[in-house]
Amino acid sequence: MSVSQLQVPRLTWRRRLCSSSFAVAGLTALILWVAVADLLGQGHLGTVLSAGRAELAAPLLIALVVATGICERIWPAERRPVLARGHVQDACYLALHAIVVIPLMTLLSVGAATLIGGHAQWIELRSTAAWPGWLLVPLTIVAMDAANWLAHYADHRLDALWRFHALHHSQEELSVLTSFRAHPLMHTTGFILATIPVVALMPARPIAPVLITIYVCIGTLQHANLRWTFGPLGRLIVSPAYHRLHHARDDQAVNLGVVLTIWDVLARCASFPARGGAVGRTGLDGRPVPVEQDSSAGPALLLMAEQLIEPFAAQRG
Ligand SMILES: [Zn+2]
Ligand SMILES: [Zn+2]
Repeated sequence: MSVSQLQVPRLTWRRRLCSSSFAVAGLTALILWVAVADLLGQGHLGTVLSAGRAELAAPLLIALVVATGICERIWPAERRPVLARGHVQDACYLALHAIVVIPLMTLLSVGAATLIGGHAQWIELRSTAAWPGWLLVPLTIVAMDAANWLAHYADHRLDALWRFHALHHSQEELSVLTSFRAHPLMHTTGFILATIPVVALMPARPIAPVLITIYVCIGTLQHANLRWTFGPLGRLIVSPAYHRLHHARDDQAVNLGVVLTIWDVLARCASFPARGGAVGRTGLDGRPVPVEQDSSAGPALLLMAEQLIEPFAAQRG
């Protein structure tokens, strides 16, 4: 057997993998390693993970998900059974979020802060230390929201990031649980970018956990299966009807805002929903990600494994 014959299977195997997805996974692993090494050195790993859980799985957020679920049964934008396949699948992602993603998010924010604070100290604005909290804290949260908008914009513009973000957009039956339907590796860019304003504006002071929880709550409500536009407030805060337009099957270029709409307005990609307007279909044309609504889809957990592996496979066609 010649050397070239021996190399053929190996090359074919490599061609079936998506190298950019492995690069994102590698970057994430690096940030996590920095965070764990730093926290173990200080003996704070357990404390920080518990604090992260308190922020991201707060009773307020759990109560909001339950209350929104009840509202979805009473005033649904699209009527469907409680155990619709989309709801069951997204409930699996809620479990993954609680077990894997919350510790991952906590460590990503610590690792990103350690790396940025350690290697780019020049971004720290020492003068803000004298600013009053009532000004500095809202300013930092608004800047974090801008960073999250930018990360979301990058998710749609860069193929390497879209491979992970597509799973979130693949949902054809939106509900409040879709907020948790995200590939764990989708969060890396957002945490790197959102850490920059925190390190720059508040290097020495932590943001009160309750404010982070409120921010997460508003960001969670946007996937609710409700027609709510939030009235005049919806011109400023992302509503379920506003975010549903971002989940349109054929065009996801509008309404990238996470909590505030102002970034979309400034980037001229805001599309405000009309009150009582038609409820558009969601998902992705051509189903590039395997979805539960497909008649050939397997059991929920097996499908979830397929959906999580999908970004690492080279794209067909
Ligand atoms: Zn998106
Ligand atoms: Zn969404």
